[in-house]
Amino acid sequence: MPQKTKETPMMVQYNEMKSQHPDAFLFFRLGDFYEMFNEDALKAAQILEITLTSRNKNADDPIPMCGIPYHSASEYIKTLVSQGYKVAIAEQLEDPKLTKGMVKRGIVKVITPGTYLNESIGINENNYLAALTMANNQYILAFSDVGTGELKVTTLDDFNAVLTEFAQLQSKELVVSEDISAENLEQLQHLQNFTLSHFSLTASDKDDTLARYQHVVAEVTDAAELQGLLTLLAYINSMSHQAIDHWQTATHYEVAHYLHMDYYAKSNLELTESVRTKKRQGSLLAFLNKTETAMGFRLLKQWLDRPLISLNAIEQRQNQVEDLIEHYFERLEIKELLHGVYDLERLVAKVAMGNVNPKELLQLNQSLSRVPGIIATLDHIVADNEDTDVWAQIRGNITDLPELTDMIQSAIKEDAPATLKDGNVIADGFDPQLDEYRDAMRNGQQWIAQLQADERAKTGIKSLKVGYNKVFGYYIEVTKANLHLLEEGRYDRKQTLTNAERFITPELKEMEAKILEAEEQSQILEHRLFQEVREAVKQHQVVLQSIAQTVATIDVLQSLAEISESHQYVKPIFTTDKRDLYLKDSRHPVVEGVIGQDKFVPNDIIMNPETSILMITGPNMSGKSTYMRQLGLIVILAQMGCFVPATEARLPIFDKIFTRIGAADDLLAGQSTFMVEMMEANQALQHATDASLLLFDELGRGTSTYDGIALAQAILIYIHDHFDAKVLFSTHYHELTALEETLPHLRNIHVGATEEDGELVFLHKVFDGATDKSYGIHVAELAGMPDSLLKNAQAVLKDLEANNLNEVNKDQQLSLFSLAEDDASANNQGLVVSQDEADVLDQLKQEDIYNLTPIQALNLLVDLKNKL
Ligand code: ADP
Repeated sequence: MPQKTKETPMMVQYNEMKSQHPDAFLFFRLGDFYEMFNEDALKAAQILEITLTSRNKNADDPIPMCGIPYHSASEYIKTLVSQGYKVAIAEQLEDPKLTKGMVKRGIVKVITPGTYLNESIGINENNYLAALTMANNQYILAFSDVGTGELKVTTLDDFNAVLTEFAQLQSKELVVSEDISAENLEQLQHLQNFTLSHFSLTASDKDDTLARYQHVVAEVTDAAELQGLLTLLAYINSMSHQAIDHWQTATHYEVAHYLHMDYYAKSNLELTESVRTKKRQGSLLAFLNKTETAMGFRLLKQWLDRPLISLNAIEQRQNQVEDLIEHYFERLEIKELLHGVYDLERLVAKVAMGNVNPKELLQLNQSLSRVPGIIATLDHIVADNEDTDVWAQIRGNITDLPELTDMIQSAIKEDAPATLKDGNVIADGFDPQLDEYRDAMRNGQQWIAQLQADERAKTGIKSLKVGYNKVFGYYIEVTKANLHLLEEGRYDRKQTLTNAERFITPELKEMEAKILEAEEQSQILEHRLFQEVREAVKQHQVVLQSIAQTVATIDVLQSLAEISESHQYVKPIFTTDKRDLYLKDSRHPVVEGVIGQDKFVPNDIIMNPETSILMITGPNMSGKSTYMRQLGLIVILAQMGCFVPATEARLPIFDKIFTRIGAADDLLAGQSTFMVEMMEANQALQHATDASLLLFDELGRGTSTYDGIALAQAILIYIHDHFDAKVLFSTHYHELTALEETLPHLRNIHVGATEEDGELVFLHKVFDGATDKSYGIHVAELAGMPDSLLKNAQAVLKDLEANNLNEVNKDQQLSLFSLAEDDASANNQGLVVSQDEADVLDQLKQEDIYNLTPIQALNLLVDLKNKL
């Protein structure tokens, strides 16, 4: 039996460190390399595409190993972290040259997806790290963006709310305490990919963190929320091993203060990404984004994620957008100025973390150089809007910092490189000492040449020369024959050669010291000066953060103004006393943006206070779901403070939007499409109020026809009788349109289509009343089905019509309606049928219609008909 090799002291050290962070790749510093061993090496070699070798190759159990040069570690770290991994960095804590035996090593930081600070990851996006804890049966969600210093916390009553918030944050990492159940975690993981980190706050962590961040958390008064925040902050500290000085004041927020949209609604309405591609393109956010700065873009996304519900707050934004539409030239000027503003929020964070580089300081300065122009333009707008103080408030939050910009300008070279390593960062004239060093470096040789000429003239020795060698430095060399010409006492002997003597003078010694010092010391000095500049900039951190936030607000407002103006949107009026909804010639903002304003058919959406349900019928592809989403998006735009795509708009303020639209995602594991459909509908029924908006597209189509009709109808009646919410309900069950007769608050509308020469023409125009045709065969034709099949279908349809099956349908419809109103007898005993008909009904019920091909469906129809 081969003996297992005894672990070397280094591997003992390695294993001890690895056990501290088993879930991270351990980068173990060995000289100029970071090495990885065992499992880490096997995995990293694959992910990073680096060579796998092994330690103790000839031993019986060689240890897999791979390494990367320390100076290129950051690229590898980026690759690992962006794929959701963590990386622990173990450095040598002593100089190996001065140490006997094992070098002491320690983990200096752990880089995780949520604490990673490289702006090149999704440059414009927030990188949120969230922490979920529990208290009193409620969930506490705290989140931060280490890159911008944002810090927020809220309390959520149920887990659905957690899912909604979490999906919105798109966190790459979630920190959880022990009390979060495995089931909860599973649901979160099904929603999106993220790195899970377990962390519980110990009493001493809590005290330390509180002591360190007292000023940051001062405004959070709730004990449970404070605990949640401290968990998050302590986790970040335990990973970064570095105090973070740029936290903005942590704020508590209430989801109830914003228009509520759950995950389904946001995703169905494609607010920030397209349902199909999961990409930003095609979303409302992509359409609305005319921002010029990274912080403007992030704020726009936040406004879109959280539309307002307070009339005052909405009107304030609306008025600002209006002011910017009216001040056309000022807006263009602001846009132009913002164009040159870099990501101030992240730059300030980097300044605070002490890792801002020279180029970034120049970017900071370029950004700040735009501020006076922005202020001057704001002053115009303020002067024209003396009656409102909102512009004055914005103006008040942005300050010019001429001393700071002057200082950076005088300190940093215009063409400074991104790294400090090679010097050439600090501008000439900033520091007399540095100028001297540089003079010495630049003019050293010249000075020496001059010295040689001067000395020759002074002594008359033509062969005198000034030279340099590494050991003795600079010298004046005189041949032995000429030594007598030297002035006594002025030259110190330094070195004797066979034919010559070498001397130094105090003057030359001084210059030598300067030249050598220049070479060695100028870099050290530049380093120190740069630190001082960085420190001086850091002093302005709070003002800079406020400038960044104000710039973000102005940027979003100009973006909304540009969209509103260029697409001829109208300022909506809010009806607060009666729930009146009136949209004249409204359009779907994103579809209109894609197909063009001239091609999009505008439609009215009118629901007076007495109408709570609009039932929309019309052929497939006619525009029912577009019409429905249109209303959802218009409500969101309006409550964000934007103008809306219509020629006239009156809207109530909605508190919540619920949707059941489009192909249901199988969001939660193991649930059928129909289950998701019902869950979405149930969310609405459970949580809607009189002030809510419900958008139900083809509800009930995920089950058999009878089930679907019965459920859809029962749901409609429930909504009608329980609240005054505004509901758009599209269906292809024409049977349901008869509800208009029994439900006084329900109104039928339909999307028109017409036949021209046997071809279906979509008008995309919405009319009053119900439609009577489904045009199914024409849609099949549009889809390109074979001619013979279509002819067959036409024939079957004619046959069915001739046999008055419609009459039968009507009977069924009536009986169904009476049944749905009477829960107790949920079967169809009311229908008088023959045995054949009963058989056909049975067979129909058992068929899984949704899994039939069109040909199978036709064959089935023919088969059924033959039985009658
Ligand atoms: P439905 O829900 O009735 O099946 P959709 O709303 O999905 O139909 O619309 C089908 C297509 O018609 C979409 O691709 C859309 O671009 C187009 N469309 C819908 N409404 C309009 C409109 N008002 N003007 C122009 N095109 C429209």
